[in-house]
Amino acid sequence: MKAKRARAARAAHAGGTRKQSSGRKRSARGAKPERDLAAEKRRARTILARLEREYPDARCSLDYDSPLQLVVATILSAQCTDARVNKVTPALFERYPTALALAEAEIGEVEEQIRSTGFFRNKARSIVACAQELVARHGGEVPADLESLVQLAGIGRKTANVVLGNAFGIPGVVVDTHVTRISRLLSLTVQKEPNKIELDLMEVVPRSKWTQLAHLFIEHGRRVCVARRPRCDACVLNDLCPSSEV
Ligand code: SF4
Repeated sequence: MKAKRARAARAAHAGGTRKQSSGRKRSARGAKPERDLAAEKRRARTILARLEREYPDARCSLDYDSPLQLVVATILSAQCTDARVNKVTPALFERYPTALALAEAEIGEVEEQIRSTGFFRNKARSIVACAQELVARHGGEVPADLESLVQLAGIGRKTANVVLGNAFGIPGVVVDTHVTRISRLLSLTVQKEPNKIELDLMEVVPRSKWTQLAHLFIEHGRRVCVARRPRCDACVLNDLCPSSEV
């Protein structure tokens, strides 16, 4: 029985099925789960409060001094560690200090500077194309609204929310792999698509905590709720988590 429970928990951590949340109950056989929204909001607030106590210094781990630098760093962070990006960006930002400088850059030169971040050809093309669009449409400045940001080359909702939340102080829910995995394990969502997960989280998490949520979940995912080998015994959320193995 214990082995069966452990198998089910491992499947959940790998992104598979998991136990139903205490905030969701089935109304009738085969019907969609009913959400007790008030209970889910209370649980979400408790989860965030505990993670804030656990990780008081959680913040964006990319280094940047301007919205443009954060746009570039976030594009570079795809399939790459933030630490590796932070090694590459100082020289890149010094060589290309403005959107105009990046817009006029030789793609090959940019590729060489960012090679160690992986997928460097695609990333160089996105960065230069994005800079050209910033110059053509926004006077070289990064716009501070989601609709304009997601129109730019190389920028999806995730990058747009990173930039809005961290460079402009406009709350946004960033859904990356840690946020996806941990939100599902905690039954804050049953969705798999980032856009739907974002909407579920926006519904239960107070707006003032939207940006911090990603930093906290990323920290928790790196330290405790590690993919495929979560340390549930050491987790401050284990009494609130339907996927807990303890
Ligand atoms: S109890 Fe904690 S570590 Fe275990 S699955 Fe839940 S959130 Fe992750």
